[in-house]
Parts: sequence; C-alpha cells; structure tokens
Amino acid sequence: MIEQRNPGLMRRLKGFMMKRMHNMITCVEFEGFIMDYLDGSLPGGQKKKFEWHLRICRECREYLAAYERTIEVGKTALGPAHEAVPNEVPEDLIKAVLDSRDA
Ligand SMILES: [Zn+2]
Repeated sequence: MIEQRNPGLMRRLKGFMMKRMHNMITCVEFEGFIMDYLDGSLPGGQKKKFEWHLRICRECREYLAAYERTIEVGKTALGPAHEAVPNEVPEDLIKAVLDSRDA
C-alpha cells in the first residue's frame, strides 16, 4: 500500500497516475492551458483533456473559478465606465491567485 503520510508525494503520484491511466493532463499542465481555454484558442483534443481534468479535480475547478473572477475584475477595471483606470492587466491580482494556490 502507498504511504498516506506524505501529501506532497501523494499529489505528485495523483498527477502521474492521471497521466498514465487516462492519458490526462496534470494540474500543472491544466494551469498552462487556462488562458488558451478561456480565449477559445485551445485545440479540440487538449480542450477535451482540460474539461476532463476540470470534472475530476476539485482543486483545479476552484483555481479556474478564481482565475475567471480575476479576469472579470480586470474587465470591469478596463471597462468604459472606468476610463480613468490605467490601461494595464492587473498582474498583482493574477499573482495573488497563483500564490494562494501554492500556499
Ligand atoms: Zn487538477
């Protein structure tokens, strides 16, 4: 049996097993696909894998939801009602989302 005491190892093992058993993407690959997925430029095959991962991985569902919220905040800030706001992507917000996931 696999030792349950090491969550880091379990997480790596989970990613490895997903990839091996179901030809699935890992959580790290999932993160790399998010931007393409959201702007609709992710190729069909990868999109399917992405959506599969999304279905079985709660961590990544929460991550994607946080990511989408961040983008919504960015859109609102750049919207016509807020023309005074500097025209740049709120990178600190995206970074905050990324950091919170690693914590
Ligand atoms: Zn995941």
